[in-house]
Amino acid sequence: MTDTPFWHRKSLDEMTRAEWESLCDGCGLCCLIKFEDIDTGELIYSNIVCRHFDDQTSLCQCYATRSQKVPDCWTLTPENIHELTWLPETCAYRLLRDGEDLAWWHPLVSGDPNSVHEAGIGIRHNCVSEEHVHVDDWQTFFDEMTAEEEEDTPDQPDASHGRA
Ligand code: SF4
Ligand code: SF4
Repeated sequence: MTDTPFWHRKSLDEMTRAEWESLCDGCGLCCLIKFEDIDTGELIYSNIVCRHFDDQTSLCQCYATRSQKVPDCWTLTPENIHELTWLPETCAYRLLRDGEDLAWWHPLVSGDPNSVHEAGIGIRHNCVSEEHVHVDDWQTFFDEMTAEEEEDTPDQPDASHGRA
């Protein structure tokens, strides 16, 4: 027997399905619409979230069928995790992939599923569903978010979704 947590003992591709799934902290960051500057490739996270995100539970409402309902929703796997450069810096899959450790607020560490929200990482109650923002207004959202940082904005904002 060992008290060493599984994410310290195993590589990502050695984990069981249950272990893999438990790595998701439920932050919801990967479900946000992201804008890409086509000149620099920089990704900027908006506060517009996928229509299937439940803002009360911070869970996907169609997890089992998400890739059918949202074609650009990625299913993270040990095989593709190394290609996904857009994952948020706090994402457990990205951290472990890059040889880093889980933060104190990760539910596996804290033992509390709410700690990800209490730490200000999760997007629960801090996002707006794409159902309520017409796609023609996405540019306005982007402009407002970047107005203080950049004079120029991307010509063609792009959107992507993803979740483990
Ligand atoms: S896959 Fe990563 S970014 Fe997405 S909800 Fe889970 S921990 Fe957060
Ligand atoms: S981006 Fe994918 S995982 Fe997130 S809410 Fe939408 S369908 Fe579900």
